[in-house]
Amino acid sequence: MDYLRLKGMGVSPGISIGEVRLAEKVTFTTRKETVPDDQVKKEVERVRKAFQRTREQLSEIKDQIKEKMGKEHSFIFEGHMLMLKDKSLTSSIENIIRNEKSRAEWAISQVHNKYKNLFQSIKDEYFRQRMSDVSDVLFRVTKNLEQLPTEKKDDGKEKILVAHDLLPSEAATRLSKGNVLGVAMDMGGETSHTAILSRSLNIPAVVGLRDVSQKLKDGDQIIVDGTDGEVIVNPPPAIRKEFVSKQEKYNYYRYELRETAKLTSTTLDRVKFTPLANIELPEEVSMAFSLGAEGIGLFRTEFIYLQSSSLPTEEDHFSIYSQVAKEAYPYPVYIRTVDVGGEKNLPQLKIEKEPNPALGLRAIRLTLHNRDLFRVQLRAILRASVNKNVKILIPMITEVEEIGEVKIILDEVKEELRKEKIQFDENISLGAMIEVPAAAAITDILAKEVDYLSIGTNDLIQYYLAADRSNELVSYLFKPLHPSVVRLIRFVIESAQKEGKEITLCGEMAANPLLAIILLGFGLKQFSMNPIFIPKVKKALRAVEYKKVKKIVQKAMNLKTAQEIEEYIIENILVEHPKAILMGKITS
Ligand code: PEP
Ligand code: MG
Repeated sequence: MDYLRLKGMGVSPGISIGEVRLAEKVTFTTRKETVPDDQVKKEVERVRKAFQRTREQLSEIKDQIKEKMGKEHSFIFEGHMLMLKDKSLTSSIENIIRNEKSRAEWAISQVHNKYKNLFQSIKDEYFRQRMSDVSDVLFRVTKNLEQLPTEKKDDGKEKILVAHDLLPSEAATRLSKGNVLGVAMDMGGETSHTAILSRSLNIPAVVGLRDVSQKLKDGDQIIVDGTDGEVIVNPPPAIRKEFVSKQEKYNYYRYELRETAKLTSTTLDRVKFTPLANIELPEEVSMAFSLGAEGIGLFRTEFIYLQSSSLPTEEDHFSIYSQVAKEAYPYPVYIRTVDVGGEKNLPQLKIEKEPNPALGLRAIRLTLHNRDLFRVQLRAILRASVNKNVKILIPMITEVEEIGEVKIILDEVKEELRKEKIQFDENISLGAMIEVPAAAAITDILAKEVDYLSIGTNDLIQYYLAADRSNELVSYLFKPLHPSVVRLIRFVIESAQKEGKEITLCGEMAANPLLAIILLGFGLKQFSMNPIFIPKVKKALRAVEYKKVKKIVQKAMNLKTAQEIEEYIIENILVEHPKAILMGKITS
């Protein structure tokens, strides 16, 4: 293979240089093989045995991963075990065998296709990625029909792993061996297990490379640049040298950021601020704290609903929440009740397709329509709150009546627990997300009804500017510095503070150092973001003087456009606080 450069998506920063280790491609059979009538029973038996073997195998892997990497990384296997227990999964496979008189391999591949079609229709990237868990379990079961080894043995040497796609269990077992220098994959996205795991283990990774696994073979030399999302195959000496020096610079930069994590979160004039982490999986907690998080400001709970084709039980929720709460203790964990509906559809609820999902039965609207679902989650959150570091966060509040309804249900659930003599935090905080412009406009009214508020700018901006957050065609309009957006956010922050209520911002906006400085100027002190951005934001906020920023931001509020505001802030911050800019890449 000649020298070649491939562009993908960098999902875990850093640079690795080394030899390729090619992972086997996961495939399901496309050949339908039928069996005579008298063998149907045998095929069903094969499936049952394969499920049993898979259960035993997963429980073994789970224990190994727990030992090597900690309990948080073994959670995915618990999800997989739940899937295996799911009666509807086994019965749909067995039904195909019986009805079509087919071999078990074919039946499993048909069920796999059914799920694949279902997941492909989901617009949300994060939800779509969870299909890999279904593939993982079904692939393992298929292999266990014949008792084939599930993984190619490796020689233990440090190499770069190249794959078409890595199943979550494969990613966990391979990456935990400590001999993976980097990862390059054809498939994958920002929120795939491989991406999350690579980030938390500091392994550079590039995904979405389309056909890298077909182009490469074992032993090829490659460079994985997870910072710029590039893979360089068989680099000539000059290019290799360039990347070795880039690797050194990056390692120093990372060292500096890690050092920042240990410093206090205060501005130059000693005003305290709090960096918090947004997480989607329990596996992310330890990484968040190592990067300087002082709590989990937003725990998105949607993934729990995707681990099984039936709805999760109270125990499923509870084991996850209590684990996260324990790991974060004494720092707080803001658990957001499920934000599904709209385009993040749950197959288990069989909700009809809506003409305008973003404006439909989403988040709190959906849970108030499915109160049993809501109660199960609230009970589990309450039970996980015994150590008093758990808070409840309600997404997509539009009007004060919804808070009233939530409180009635919460009180009923609390009463149930008291009767059952189950302990929980009697004074658990209840907060509302400000994501709908109508809610923003009545912040003062809402603030009186809740213990705290959290601004979700990803949705607030899309609804305020009528610009779909995931539509590239209108992304030019999605401007956090649009004068009406900044005025609205300032109003929300000031109104909450006037009511003496805690206020956090947990949209992407908080992850951008320049925007975080502006938010600080509005008086915001709690910033919740994807943990990888915490060091950068913390460094920027530590480099400014709160009083001066307040004045500069105040003046910028009379400007007419987002661009004028940005330029004004940069010019003035640069004069007042050269360090905030000199730390580099201030606008991320
Ligand atoms: C938001 O809308 O800003 C938010 C944090 O919630 P999500 O991104 O999960 O919709
Ligand atoms: Mg939102």
